[in-house]
Amino acid sequence: VAALVLLLGWTAACGDAGPRADSARDDRPVVVTTVSPITSIAAAVTGDLAQVVGVVPEGANSHTFEPPPSTAALLAEADVVLVNGLGLEDPVIDLAEANRSSEAGIVALADRTIDEGEWIYDSSFPRSGGVPNPHLWTNPPMVVRYSEIIRDTMIGLDPAHLDEYTAKQEAFAGQVDALDTAMRTAFATIPAADRRLLTYHDAYAYFAVEYGFEIIGAMEVSDFSEPTPGEVADLIVQVRDSGVPAIFGSEVFPSPVLAQIGAEADVRYVDVLRDDDLPDQPGDPDHSVIGLLRFDYATITAALGGDPTALDELDVTPAVADGATYPQ
Ligand SMILES: [Zn+2]
Repeated sequence: VAALVLLLGWTAACGDAGPRADSARDDRPVVVTTVSPITSIAAAVTGDLAQVVGVVPEGANSHTFEPPPSTAALLAEADVVLVNGLGLEDPVIDLAEANRSSEAGIVALADRTIDEGEWIYDSSFPRSGGVPNPHLWTNPPMVVRYSEIIRDTMIGLDPAHLDEYTAKQEAFAGQVDALDTAMRTAFATIPAADRRLLTYHDAYAYFAVEYGFEIIGAMEVSDFSEPTPGEVADLIVQVRDSGVPAIFGSEVFPSPVLAQIGAEADVRYVDVLRDDDLPDQPGDPDHSVIGLLRFDYATITAALGGDPTALDELDVTPAVADGATYPQ
């Protein structure tokens, strides 16, 4: 037993400790989150009233992320676990189910935001796979809904701070509304025929419905592997026929094959979109879900021939200082 204790202590000291809450010195609620956009929304709603700790490192592929065993210790400390749901982080949910305290709830934000009739299936998330597109957080009205669910969850957990959670959520929703207004202003400058998206990783399905874009395809195959030579040839034809001025890739999923498709189809390949890796570093003003969406939609607007000034001029500095832990 002594050897085992020594071994466990050694393991914890040697870097597999992962992100941890500091509950020994801190009696605030421990809110464990998954991807960084959700961490950012939780940080905005809670401010300094809670310890918010993310699990999925920024830049990791959240769709295939398997938490290390050390994440179990963090999940055991959680007062609540906030996940996106809709199949995005099932391995984290399984680990949370196995390790959480009996009182800690697991709140699946996407599952509570839309019901089954609103799920979108597409080429990356086909109906045959049984898992709908989980990317609700790229659609600002759904970001507001996430923040309301987090507010209500926190009030349930920590009712003494009802007024503060309410005020912080209101301030955050106001910033998201300003983003929404700037997006609509910018998108109106894109020629109507070019409000079409061909993306590598289809993170924009719900956004497209809300803001009048047509998703003409996603180049990613549903198992996240590279396309075959036959698929590449088909994609070149698809891109050429589409007439779009640009196609979009994700910085988390670099793909020389897609650069080649862009070159052979003679359209710009813009490979910098981000669906869950926040811009800049923790503590920077742009390092937030609002900074993320501003970046993506200013990039899309400019690449499709529009004027992104309204988005560029938006102040994205969080209304509440972000003290969350974002594993890198
Ligand atoms: Zn994604």
